[in-house]
Amino acid sequence: MLDRKNIDPKYKWDLTKIYPTEDDFKADYEAVEALVKAFPAHEKTMCQSAKGLLAAIDDDAKIGYTLSKLYVYAHLYFDTDNSNNVHQARMGRVRSLAVAASSASWFVGPYILRLDEKTVEEWFEEEPGLETYRRLIFKVMREKSHTLSDECEKLVASMGNALGSHGNIRGIFANSDLQFGKIRDENGKYMQLTDTNYVSTLMKPQRNVRRAAFNCLYKTYGQFGNTFATMYEAYVKERITFAKINKFKSSLEASTFRDEVTPVIYNSLIKSVRSSLPVIHDYYELKREVLGLDRLHMYDVYTPLIGECESKYTYEEAVEEVLETVKVFGEEYHSTLTEGLKERGWVDVYPSKGKRGGAYSSGCPGTEPYILLNFTETFDDVSTLAHEAGHSMHSYFSRKYNEPHNSDYTIFVAEVASTVNELLLAHRKLEECKSDAEKLSILDGLMETYKGTLYRQTMFAEFERNVHRMAEKGEPLTADVLNKEYMKLIRAYFGPKVAKDRQIAYEWMRIPHFYTNFYVYKYATCISAASAIVKRIETEGEAYVGQYIEFLKCGGSKSPLDSLLVAGIDMSDPKVVDGAIEDFASAIKQFREIYNSQAK
Ligand SMILES: [Zn+2]
Repeated sequence: MLDRKNIDPKYKWDLTKIYPTEDDFKADYEAVEALVKAFPAHEKTMCQSAKGLLAAIDDDAKIGYTLSKLYVYAHLYFDTDNSNNVHQARMGRVRSLAVAASSASWFVGPYILRLDEKTVEEWFEEEPGLETYRRLIFKVMREKSHTLSDECEKLVASMGNALGSHGNIRGIFANSDLQFGKIRDENGKYMQLTDTNYVSTLMKPQRNVRRAAFNCLYKTYGQFGNTFATMYEAYVKERITFAKINKFKSSLEASTFRDEVTPVIYNSLIKSVRSSLPVIHDYYELKREVLGLDRLHMYDVYTPLIGECESKYTYEEAVEEVLETVKVFGEEYHSTLTEGLKERGWVDVYPSKGKRGGAYSSGCPGTEPYILLNFTETFDDVSTLAHEAGHSMHSYFSRKYNEPHNSDYTIFVAEVASTVNELLLAHRKLEECKSDAEKLSILDGLMETYKGTLYRQTMFAEFERNVHRMAEKGEPLTADVLNKEYMKLIRAYFGPKVAKDRQIAYEWMRIPHFYTNFYVYKYATCISAASAIVKRIETEGEAYVGQYIEFLKCGGSKSPLDSLLVAGIDMSDPKVVDGAIEDFASAIKQFREIYNSQAK
């Protein structure tokens, strides 16, 4: 592992663009401290007049803006070396300032809710400065019919620590208390099986190791079915109770309301994916053929079709690959990203001691859209750069064309621009590359993405929906009921040819996301939207690209569904998902053709 100080600065991000010196950081820190200290004075005046309201929201926005800059600066330094005491201390200071800020401004949301709509409209007329906050105010006001009396809200807030702890309990139980025991690895040596190394063990080529891991893991889970069911039932009931208290028809409606989406979108996703199940069944059949098995079992489904491809990419080559891919987006996108990657120090490239793993894009209004990588020269890493560059360019356009408080786009669209880049890169490389081995590897990755993001997440989404519905009807969620419901979906999503080993019924116990209800469907809708966009870019070219760029410029100024409409994507139209399914089917077909021609 490299020492950070031996890495050429051109491969590290340039954080002096946020604050040239530590004194500049300090100056902003003190400015926020002063604003926070003075903020409680707004409590008396903010509901008295248009001017009072504007003054409070302005100061709140100023605090938010500067605080995010301080936070980005602190966390980016921290992530490059989390053992560094200076970085740790800076991070700690920003965190406590954030706590102080949120407790000083606690009343902003609740007080806006106290205003009636007529008064607010009059104030918009009277004070033009308020106009820029229209969407922000609207987002608070739309909660009005779902908000309780002050006293009840206070009561709920005071129980915050006790409520919402089911997910933590499940996590602690599954990750620290449960012991899965040991299995023999491919060399005959004993290895400790954990929930964390389970999936990587299931990717191994040795089938006996995979089978042992599968049996061993679910033997343990199976013994605690009643405990897991009780934890999950408690969580589901809590969500249902809150939905009722807050006057929603169902917990699904309550959750999608927060995303500014509706249950219709949720159900339409499931319906479309359901109607295309034969495509994923065919994928598993391909997997069976390539792995040379009589029958595919549940412990075979993670095994890659082929190993990682030999081709290596230097970082410079990766940058060129990504830039070539985004040329289709026109001048502003291409030149901004070129500058960002080559001159403006957006990227922290290589792994080093103490650096955080994985990859992300971060930043806020007033900073560059920084990218953290742990680049190791594989095609996967090139794809990751394309993905993160998609996030960064989405942020760039959102921040450039909106005021800071209107620039944040929501999770519902957050993975669209990144996935668009990833898919475009894969498609372009498939066209260009000459080697069959590399093509197969890219297709394998592409199919894996669709399987994991579109089908698996939709199956989870369907499970959640059905389970919440059952609980809403008053049916008890026992281990038996949950196992049966899960198995029903496994049968549908894996098709008649795959062996449904009975232990797979316990898989729901392993999924932490079920404790963040109705979240995972967003992965599936994002890849569907991205795929539909890629299709239009590839068929309509420049005539369409402008529309896509306009979508990137929306930031948080519109609801996520309205932003996607700007890109010509109507999420209520079942056809959106069809595009992703066609792309998946085409990858299966291409893979089979190349693979069969090689076998001859
Ligand atoms: Zn992403």
